[in-house]
Amino acid sequence: MPIIQCPGCEKRVDDKVEICPLCGYRLVKRSKSSKLILNILLMMLICVSAFFAVVAFTLGNTVVGSAASVVVIICLIKFFAK
Ligand SMILES: [Zn+2]
Repeated sequence: MPIIQCPGCEKRVDDKVEICPLCGYRLVKRSKSSKLILNILLMMLICVSAFFAVVAFTLGNTVVGSAASVVVIICLIKFFAK
């Protein structure tokens, strides 16, 4: 079984436990939920930028439209490059 070091007491504990049995430190990995939040934020940024791009191009503002398009493309690359 994988062993991790508890940040609370610096003892070695099983990585499957949610709370350190030695000091009570919460070991719940937040990487999964923070990654999910990051993905949601990224999706929102893509949607907002895409909206701005469409509006800007519709209004004939190609500079803003292009900038927003670049943001969309960068976010899409970041979103799928995992
Ligand atoms: Zn501990």
